[in-house]
Amino acid sequence: MGTPERPAAGGDSGQRRSSMSQLFRRNRHDETGLPPTLVVVPNTGILCNFPDCTNETAQPCAYRDGRGRACRAAYCPEHGTAVEGKLYCRRHAGVVRAVGAEATPSGGLPDVDNRAPSLVSWIARDLDANVRRLLSSAARTGESVIADETVHVARDFNRKARWEQSWRLVDHTGVILKVTIQVLEENDSLVRVHVGSGVIADGVPPWIVRRAETSDMASDTAQRQRFYQWLDESIFMAVDRFRTERQR
Ligand SMILES: [Zn+2]
Ligand SMILES: [Zn+2]
Repeated sequence: MGTPERPAAGGDSGQRRSSMSQLFRRNRHDETGLPPTLVVVPNTGILCNFPDCTNETAQPCAYRDGRGRACRAAYCPEHGTAVEGKLYCRRHAGVVRAVGAEATPSGGLPDVDNRAPSLVSWIARDLDANVRRLLSSAARTGESVIADETVHVARDFNRKARWEQSWRLVDHTGVILKVTIQVLEENDSLVRVHVGSGVIADGVPPWIVRRAETSDMASDTAQRQRFYQWLDESIFMAVDRFRTERQR
């Protein structure tokens, strides 16, 4: 589960070019007898945005949105996330993994400051095991569970985007019941959970609510767990209701 990355520092410190710094990484216990791996990380003169990291080997996040705007975050190779050979901040690594590095059906990648796709992706990943288990146990003979591998974008009649990831209970006739995590691009902090045709839960995750505040790690973890527990229970009750009503 991702903590939101720190806001980007100013990108004006990157002009300084300096010498190469070298990091030596030894393979764990050289069982192979091969020499240790030498990784050369160029010193970019840009300070990593990760809290307390003092590496000046940071590179700006490689993300470019559909309007050509860049992300202002910069991370060192240790704290950035590489996707297909490019270094991204955590959020944008999530977006690129979810929708591919090139484009969405509408053209470019989502707006640089929009957290909708990565939020759906994180939450779906954390709920995945439970939702699969829940739908599997609700399945009747001939029914099975299919889950989306990634986030995808859908648009309403006004071309407004919403980001979604779903699990489906299906049989040979089609979809019996669908569970969807959804975040609208225009309101990228509100998570909505659909079961069947209705929204059965919506809320702003606690780590977004208290983004500006300082809080200790223990209460962060507890709040996060409560949030997921609440989502799990809401989905459980909705699936249960669906099955009970269908029985009559
Ligand atoms: Zn770093
Ligand atoms: Zn980024």
